[in-house]
Amino acid sequence: MKVLLITIDGPSGAGKTTVSRLVAERLGYTYVDTGALYRAVALVALSEGCEPNDDERLDKICGHLVLRFENGSQGSRLYANRDDITEDIRTQEIGMFASAISARSAVRKYLLGVQREMGKSGCVVFEGRDMGTVVFPWADIKFYLDADLDTRAQRRYRELAARHERTSLAEVREAMKKRDNDDSIRTLSPLRPAHDAIRIDSTSLDIDQVVEVILSHIRECVK
Ligand code: C5P
Repeated sequence: MKVLLITIDGPSGAGKTTVSRLVAERLGYTYVDTGALYRAVALVALSEGCEPNDDERLDKICGHLVLRFENGSQGSRLYANRDDITEDIRTQEIGMFASAISARSAVRKYLLGVQREMGKSGCVVFEGRDMGTVVFPWADIKFYLDADLDTRAQRRYRELAARHERTSLAEVREAMKKRDNDDSIRTLSPLRPAHDAIRIDSTSLDIDQVVEVILSHIRECVK
């Protein structure tokens, strides 16, 4: 397979994470979940009692933070400095805080560098909100994955329930609606499809079907 840089953007709960991981696996590519990077900054900032709009503090936190993914027997793990934070970042609270700090330029600037460094060698599937628009506008193939709000909320609720997080479907739906709205209206790198992205609605598709649609577009593109 040719060396490609592939981006998959979209709102929360659209299935991006699972789909991106499977597409990368099928291609023998690396997969980068950039939402996890925003969550990592959020986790560290929260643990230090930093307010989400304290730019000076956020800048300092980013300056001392080394983020890396490591592949091991338990799959891909995310480390913040020396701490394995793979599971700790997966709560609703961290998701909401990540959305708040992701609107701050200190955080976006720091993660822009981290992400571009990770994309240097190609053969990567990047998943996020602004991969095709801002971080890698030169990507070889861009996808924008969406689904209706109720479907996305149900998927996320099932995920959180499996992890025994105490919440309700209505609460997850409201939090998701707010987060998507905040992500879409912010000034810096708002969530939106790149003009040249292939748009896929996953409302009535299962994971395998979405993966197949994406792979068939990729095959078409490298013909
Ligand atoms: O994808 P995930 O839900 O883990 O992302 C958490 C938050 O990180 C998003 O709501 C969004 O505000 C932010 N994010 C971003 N840009 C990205 C990836 C995530 O702003 N490329």
